[in-house]
Amino acid sequence: MRPVIVVHGGAGRVFAEREGGCRSGVVRAALRGHRLLAEGGTALDAVEEAVRSMEDDPHFNAGCGSVLNEKGEVEMDAIIMDGKNLASGAVSAVKCIANPIKLARLVMEKTKHLLLTGHGAQLFARAMGIPEVPEEKLITERSRERWKKNLEPDSNPEEFQKDLGTVGAVAIDSEGNVACATSTGGLSNKLIGRVGDTACIGSGGYADNCCGAASTTGHGESIMKVVLARLVLYHMEQGMSPEMAADAALNHMETRVGGRGGVIVVNRAGEWAARFSTKQMSWATVKDDQLLYGIHAGERHTKPLGEALASVCEGF
Ligand code: ASP
Repeated sequence: MRPVIVVHGGAGRVFAEREGGCRSGVVRAALRGHRLLAEGGTALDAVEEAVRSMEDDPHFNAGCGSVLNEKGEVEMDAIIMDGKNLASGAVSAVKCIANPIKLARLVMEKTKHLLLTGHGAQLFARAMGIPEVPEEKLITERSRERWKKNLEPDSNPEEFQKDLGTVGAVAIDSEGNVACATSTGGLSNKLIGRVGDTACIGSGGYADNCCGAASTTGHGESIMKVVLARLVLYHMEQGMSPEMAADAALNHMETRVGGRGGVIVVNRAGEWAARFSTKQMSWATVKDDQLLYGIHAGERHTKPLGEALASVCEGF
């Protein structure tokens, strides 16, 4: 099996001034994840690595760069899932750590539980020796600006919600194992303690070797109502290709509950898709020594992997 990785940097609206940063952020994440796969690493390690790379990148709404809740604080959600045995770990409303995806993996590997939230997640992070970072280090000028604007009496929160930026990855490794990982700061000016789709198994992501893996982004409450990631896999189980399954699930979410979003998918044959019903979604994939990436509907750039490694990612 030739390994494949697909990543997304969030569905919504990517403002022109952020396009370059988002594009190189998803490309760098895909290349990092793929490097692990090419060295014989597992799909699980690859999706964690790719998501971690985007959590550290302030262009995205995850880790550093997360949007702020109604009180101006960062509360983050993340999930990881191993398609080999359906093991999964998630955290929600977690504060003051750089990489929630790492904590989600520790929940999966070191506890009997699937999801830890708020204070409990914090205590667990401390027990696992994860260093606390001052909240200020996770907050960018942009997220602070946006939070302030949303508080203005004449603001249109719906407009700002369209500027999303959750990150995610799906992969299949040389052994045919699939995995998914998703991480987010959630929705701007959300209520304190809000748990979004990202932390919920089947909504923010799902992985099962019998079928494939999916990671989602978009309006969380809509995603949860239709259990979007599992819905995509269901459609593939019924015989659809990743692209058809993604489109059918996104279409259902829009017609049934009026929500928009995006998904990345890989199936057990290594076929993949990056589909969205929002205006844009940054994505990248590496398969068969080719890098592909895009942001706008229908946009698809292709580069040989060697060239991509040499030129696209400065400092990679
Ligand atoms: N799904 C995320 C949430 O609602 C937001 C996003 O994907 O950008 O928390």
